[in-house]
Parts: sequence; structure tokens; C-alpha cells
Amino acid sequence: MIRPFTNEPLIDFNDPTNIAAMEASIAKVESELGKEYPLRIGDKEIFTDDINEVINPSNTSEVIGRVSRSTRELAGKAIETAAEKFEEWKRVPAEVRARYLLRAAERMRQRRFELSATMVLEVGKNWVEADAGTAEAIDMLEFYGREMIRLGGHQPLTCSPSEENELRYLPLGVAIVIPPWNFPNAIMCGMSSAAIVAGNTVVLKPSSNSPVTAYKFAEIMEEVGLPAGVLNYCPGSGSEVGDFLVEHPKTRLIAFTGSKEVGLRINELAAKISPGQVWIKRVIAEMGGKDAIVVAEDADLEAAADGIVISAFGYQGQKCSACSRAIVVDGVYDELLSRVAEKAKAIRIGPVKSRENWMGPVISKQAFHSITDYIEIGKREGQLVCGGGPGGDPNGYFIEPTVFAEVAPEARIAQEEIFGPVLAFIKARDYDHALEIANDTPYGLTGSVYSRCQLKLEKAREEFHVGNLYLNRKSTGALVGVHPFGGFNMSGTDSKAGGSDYLLLYTQAKTTSQFMSL
Ligand code: NAP
Repeated sequence: MIRPFTNEPLIDFNDPTNIAAMEASIAKVESELGKEYPLRIGDKEIFTDDINEVINPSNTSEVIGRVSRSTRELAGKAIETAAEKFEEWKRVPAEVRARYLLRAAERMRQRRFELSATMVLEVGKNWVEADAGTAEAIDMLEFYGREMIRLGGHQPLTCSPSEENELRYLPLGVAIVIPPWNFPNAIMCGMSSAAIVAGNTVVLKPSSNSPVTAYKFAEIMEEVGLPAGVLNYCPGSGSEVGDFLVEHPKTRLIAFTGSKEVGLRINELAAKISPGQVWIKRVIAEMGGKDAIVVAEDADLEAAADGIVISAFGYQGQKCSACSRAIVVDGVYDELLSRVAEKAKAIRIGPVKSRENWMGPVISKQAFHSITDYIEIGKREGQLVCGGGPGGDPNGYFIEPTVFAEVAPEARIAQEEIFGPVLAFIKARDYDHALEIANDTPYGLTGSVYSRCQLKLEKAREEFHVGNLYLNRKSTGALVGVHPFGGFNMSGTDSKAGGSDYLLLYTQAKTTSQFMSL
């Protein structure tokens, strides 16, 4: 019997054994710098001439991997391979498909430090964030495995006296999985494994910023014996092969997580029927956020300051759930601002290979420039309280934790997703005004409220229009099974990843009724 799902415990990095294991894994990943990684289509490894050199954002002289980029022709081959394999894979019983995920979770535990070390170097996560990402990926595998066993079993229907009725969840076909780089294991593994366990076959196009972590996931699925062709690893530039994959007539479903701009483009392209296409493509699109923490006059200010700092600057503000707006009621605004600024200034920033550095680099040169452009805009729109410059080490893309005060609700830095360590402090007349400001962006992903008053919290439950609302806690750190995740409005299709409704998005239900009277 399979034990009930529980969240994977995190590694304790105060324990010297774990510190040694992580250091050894970082050294191992470093010993593989510059390694070449091929595409994996069916049972073939394919190296191409077009190479993506993946740079360590903490130290731009290090090439984490040289990853082959797919051409459109190879992307087409990946879809054809997945389509062919689907005819076999869809007949594999749900429970058997689930076992591949459970075994992959076990294998991921064995390679846990290595996967986390890869993320430290490839995308600049600190040790704790990297480990939490690996734990989340393990949770996804364990959770979706069990969910598929549930969905593969008997589904209750109302009895009809003369009929035998059943409802079965069937897979859809070829799923194109397009993840972002910021949770390069968890989200990538979550979307891919959900598609696979539901009986679909997958073409995985990882982010160009994190294809090495994704390669290791593909390797793990092979190590646990997943039949070749069920998961096809097809890295390539989004702009070069993305449209092609989305528009292909054999694509049945697209699971995307990333920016609003790309998500909307995918949604639009997927809605057009390609010649030979006989279905409406399913689009699961989880997108950006402009998440707010609202602080009422009666809040515990120290808890609120901690929650804001960790939500705004954890992983350099590069989480879709990151707090980028602190909306604070007038009476406590100055006091809270000074506590947040003090905590932000105390953050240690630098290459995350060192355990002591809490904040690392932003992901790329492009991100560095985009964020520093927003900081310049912020200097015109608000009052710079702390940060604002490059930090850490000149060899990496480091930006100081930055706080702007006196920002108007309609300012660009209060409306547009910056996706970096930049926080706008916005003053509200009262609590109702604060909630009004919080809801006044095109997004609706996460939000928090700090208040000691239950009635205020109840009002937020009703009126704060976000997919994931947190009361008296930070806005980041959703756990699989505990906080099903997905946003409203321009934050996406509210898929509720890591929840019991999620796998339904990867299936279609068939009802069969047999008349039983002779
Ligand atoms: P992105 O630029 O939109 O890229 C996401 C993925 O889309 C990447 O794999 C990218 O490939 C690919 N892509 C780019 N252009 C494409 C096209 N025309 N067709 C198909 N695919 C294309 O986003 P990102 O910078 O990786 O991630 C950050 C964004 O993700 C933020 O907006 C963040 O809020 C959001 N996010 C949302 C959630 C959520 O659950 N709501 C979770 C995490 C992140 P390349 O890398 O090759 O360009």
C-alpha cells in the first residue's frame, strides 16, 4: 500500500554533514562546467551546432553547460515521436504510470544535493531555496502519482436503475511543456510529471536559462525506466521553436508557466486551428504577478516587516509570488518602512556558492538591465530609501535589495512586474483603501494581509482578488497539497498546481452508459 502523501522535509544546513554533502555536490557540478548536453528525442541523443552556453549568474566566467538548441525540424521530430508513443502510453494503466513518478521521487532524493547544487550554479538560488525547490519537485512527483491512482479508480455517479454508467479520465495527447527558469526543477518537473502520469506524452522545452537542471530531470526519468519517447527533452529558444511547437497540428495541450506576454501569445496562437488539426488545443498558462502585502494599523509590525522582507527579497524577488508592493495604512507607514529598510540593509548578498549569502544574483544580463531600468524609473516615481545599486561581486549580476517609498498606486513600479529585488511602499488612507489599491492591477496571483482583527481578515477573504491569499504570513512558499497554486486575471488560468484539481487539466473525461435491461 502506498503511504499517504506528506511534504518532503527540508535539509537542515546547520548540520555539518549536510554542509559537507552540499559542498561536495557543488564541487561535482563545478567539475562538469562546460559539459555538452544533447537533445533527447525518443531513444536518441542529438547534438546540434547551435549551442546555448548557460552562464553562472554569480560568476559570469563560468559556463554551467553547453546545451544543444533544437531546430524547428527537430522540434517537429520530437512532436512526431511523442504522438507515435502516445498510442502506447495511453494504454498503460494509471497505477503503473503513477509508479514511474514514485520511483522518480525516490531517485530525486538520491540525487537531491546534486540537483540543488546545479540550481545554485545555474540560476543563483541560495542553498535553502535550491533545496526547497528540489523538495517541491519530489512533492509534485509523490502528489501527482497518488492523484492519478485516485483518478484512475472508480468515480462515483448517481445510480440509474436500468443502466451501468462509468466515468473515466483519459489522456489528451501530446503535451508541450514550457516552464520558466525561476523554479527550474519544481515547476518544470511538476508540469511534465502531471502530463506524463495522466497518460500524455511530452515535449519539454525548458527555459534557455535553466536547461541543465531540466536535463537532469530527463535523465532521472530515464533512470527509472520511463519508456523512451514519453518524455522528449527539446531545449531551444522560445522565439525560435516556441511558436512552432504551439502551432503544430499534433500538439494537443500546452502547459506554460512564465511571463504574461509569452502566455498571452501562446493562448492566441493556440486558438488558431492549424491545417489537419481536429481538436481545440488546451492551454494551461500560469503567468506573472504584482503581489501586494497589505498592512493594517493593528498589525504585528515586526511580523509584517519580516514577512515583507522575505517575500520581496527571497530569491532576489524572482518569484511570481514575490511581494513587490507593500500597501500600508497611514498610521503605521513610517514605522514599518523604517523596520523594513533596516532589515533589507542587513541582507547579505553575494555568490550563492557560499552558504552565508542569503541573496544571490538576478538571472541574466538582460534581467540585470531591465531591473536597473526600473530602479531609474523608481527614482523618478518615488523616494529611494535603500539599495538601488549593483551589489555583491562585479563578476555576477547582483542588485541590492531596493525599497522605494511614497510610490503612487498607479506608478509604473507599482503596476508592472519587475521580477527583481525592488519593493514599492504605498500609503493607504485606511484598510479599505489599502485593499482597493491591492486589487487595482491587471494581475491577481498572491497577496498577504497583516492584521490582528479577524473582521479585517474576513474582509480580505471576501475582497482581496487573488488566487493565493495569505493572512498574517508571507506571500511566498506555497507547498504542494497544502496551498494549491494559481492566479486570477492576467496571472493566468488559475490551474491550482499542487492541488487535487490539477490533473484534470491534463485529461478529458469519458462517460459510458450501457442499457442493462434485457
Ligand atoms: P518567459 O520569458 O515568459 O519564458 C517562459 C518560457 O517560455 C521559457 O521556457 C521561454 O523560453 C518560453 N518562451 C519564450 N518565448 C516563447 C514563445 N514565443 N513561444 C513559446 N515559448 C516561449 O518567463 P521567464 O522569464 O522564464 O519566467 C519569469 C516569469 O514567469 C515571470 O513573469 C513570473 O511571474 C512567471 N512565473 C509564474 C508562475 C506562476 O505560477 N504563475 C511561476 C513562476 C514564474 P526561452 O527561455 O528560450 O525564452
